[in-house]
Amino acid sequence: MDQFIITSVLCGLLVIVMLVTLLYNVFEKEGRAIIVSLLSLVVVSVIYSVLYYINHTLINLIFNVSLTIFFVVLLLPIRNFGHNMTVPEKRIDERKTMFARMVLEPGSDRYNEFYKNNPDMIPLDEKFRSKPGLLDSEASKFHPLGFRAADASFFAIDRYKPFVDGEPNPIKEDLTDLDVSNFIKSWAVKLGAVEVGICELKDYHWYSTIGRGEEYGKEVDDSHKYAIAFSVEMDKDMVDAAPTTSIIMESAQQYLESGKIAIQIAQFIRSLGYNARAHIDGNYRLVCPLVGRDAGLGEIGRMGLLMNEKTGPRHRLAVVTTDLSLKTDRKKSNPAIEHFCSICKKCADVCPSAAISKNDREIIDGVERWQINSEACFTYWCQVGTDCGQCIRVCPFSHPDNLYHKMIRLLINNSVLFQYFALKMDDIFYGRRPKAKKTPKWVN
Ligand code: SF4
Ligand code: SF4
Repeated sequence: MDQFIITSVLCGLLVIVMLVTLLYNVFEKEGRAIIVSLLSLVVVSVIYSVLYYINHTLINLIFNVSLTIFFVVLLLPIRNFGHNMTVPEKRIDERKTMFARMVLEPGSDRYNEFYKNNPDMIPLDEKFRSKPGLLDSEASKFHPLGFRAADASFFAIDRYKPFVDGEPNPIKEDLTDLDVSNFIKSWAVKLGAVEVGICELKDYHWYSTIGRGEEYGKEVDDSHKYAIAFSVEMDKDMVDAAPTTSIIMESAQQYLESGKIAIQIAQFIRSLGYNARAHIDGNYRLVCPLVGRDAGLGEIGRMGLLMNEKTGPRHRLAVVTTDLSLKTDRKKSNPAIEHFCSICKKCADVCPSAAISKNDREIIDGVERWQINSEACFTYWCQVGTDCGQCIRVCPFSHPDNLYHKMIRLLINNSVLFQYFALKMDDIFYGRRPKAKKTPKWVN
């Protein structure tokens, strides 16, 4: 066949891909990516015009063969991602987590006792205590309406507290685990969950000691055998303006949504005659990302958050534990996500407090993972007054879950080589350190 006809077909295909990319970028309001798409269309047109003008069979042949080899190699299933799923050796004491330390009242008995037992944490925590604090009017991202709106959502979440647990109906329903599990999962999706999974609880899922609320210092009751974990999506426009007020409004809103669903499911299970507890914001007895991972919702990424295939880290999690017998989901290990994290490091590059490691995963308490510096991260939160979220904003897995990005994720799961290509394209189209978008107009 005439080499120029093949050149025309290949360039035509490239133009189609670029036009589709352009359309999606317009639809997603990605200014920089729109410009890059337009420029790439111009580049292809120029190359095609030059080849047409030269009209030399050998040059066309070299162009055609190189381009074909390049794309065929990218699409080859090369899946040596490497994966070493490890589990923690011991439980975490919730009192030592950042969220428990932040609510310690200076001068209180709890405060004095905690720092007497953990003097090494005093200098670390003094740093965040020297800053204005979350949702504080002195914080640098203070927004008079947005901060109050977020506060109102946290207020509402707090009202759910009495309903996280309760007495089950004395009359037990006789149920098949498959039917009730399917019902709960479908209902959770109907209520707004994006991903739902069920797993059997392991010792390492639970905190050892309660670190917040009235039961502070008590040993965690780990009698439940099963967990239903689910995620709810955070609105992309609200996340895209991180670290301004919209991020904390959205975090609070989705904690509220996930909390509501968890309360409904827990109450439903109790009405069937079984024990159930909702684990919602500020009221956890276990480590949600670990449960989510084992329930098949995703893998834990470089920034320490659970990353799933639909929303990346752009979600909030909640869990319901129960003694009702449930059908567990097979964990769908996705080593591709971890491998992508090992080469990407975009969140680490953008983090204003250098809290995210740029190194390889390390063994910490028996688990191979990335360790985030939660003190540095939280100190930044206390400075800006929001929960920052810039790492979530820039993550290539946070793009919308539409057909275009689904295709890219499919190819990312298929090939190590494609991962390098996709990362480079993400850097070119969106920037290595993408700037925050404007806070949605209605917020301002
Ligand atoms: S930004 Fe990159 S390195 Fe960070 S969590 Fe997302 S994929 Fe992983
Ligand atoms: S929330 Fe902000 S400060 Fe914390 S790890 Fe992410 S980018 Fe860094």
